[in-house]
Amino acid sequence: MTQIHDIEHNKLKRRGMMFILSSPSGAGKSSIAHGLLTRDPNLSLSISATTRPKRENEINDVDYHFVTVPRFQEMLHHGEFLEHAQVFGNYYGTPKGPVMRALHQGQDVLFDIDWQGTQQLCQINPQDLVSIFILPPTIQALHERLKRRAQDSDKIIDLRMASAKSEMSHWAEYDYVIVNEDLEQSINNALSILKSERLKRRRQTGLSGFVTELTTEEF
Ligand code: 5GP
Repeated sequence: MTQIHDIEHNKLKRRGMMFILSSPSGAGKSSIAHGLLTRDPNLSLSISATTRPKRENEINDVDYHFVTVPRFQEMLHHGEFLEHAQVFGNYYGTPKGPVMRALHQGQDVLFDIDWQGTQQLCQINPQDLVSIFILPPTIQALHERLKRRAQDSDKIIDLRMASAKSEMSHWAEYDYVIVNEDLEQSINNALSILKSERLKRRRQTGLSGFVTELTTEEF
């Protein structure tokens, strides 16, 4: 007779998911990502490589892998990125290895990437991708958050504000949209999406074996 832990193992076996958050800078995406990561142990963050200078509060290899332009180009040349893009004059890219390993183990991976990266991942593997676009409640709120963050110079803040509108024009390419009025509520909404998407039949690769056992076993 099948042991209970076998059944549970089978039932739980599923495909890992690429869970993408995109938004204009300052819409609260990083805070939502942080909330998701602290509340969900089955989610790990894809740490991007970037040529952007490190901000004061950031930690190398935790927030980003901070690399030089020649190093980034070398990684690109060696096919080490799953996707890459230029954002605000800096290069950003998703290292392939950690993502592939996690997905293979049925683990979900969280991506904080822009619309260009989302489009590239969508071309590679649309089946295993779930995307959320975060919008600010007002354009003033976006500006306030960028200023409050005070990690970038005025010039960069202006550049990010100017880019926000063109970034926001990509909202319709995403599966879900969250208007981030209240951080707690937005984290809960993103968690609900994550939980529901995990239950999608096609992601639960252990289901057919599980149901076969259910229907053929003596009781
Ligand atoms: P920041 O410099 O504020 O950390 O990020 C700027 C923008 O680059 C954000 O929209 C962020 O989502 C995006 N980004 C960060 N890492 C990656 C990446 O690996 N690939 C792509 N395509 N975009 C990224």
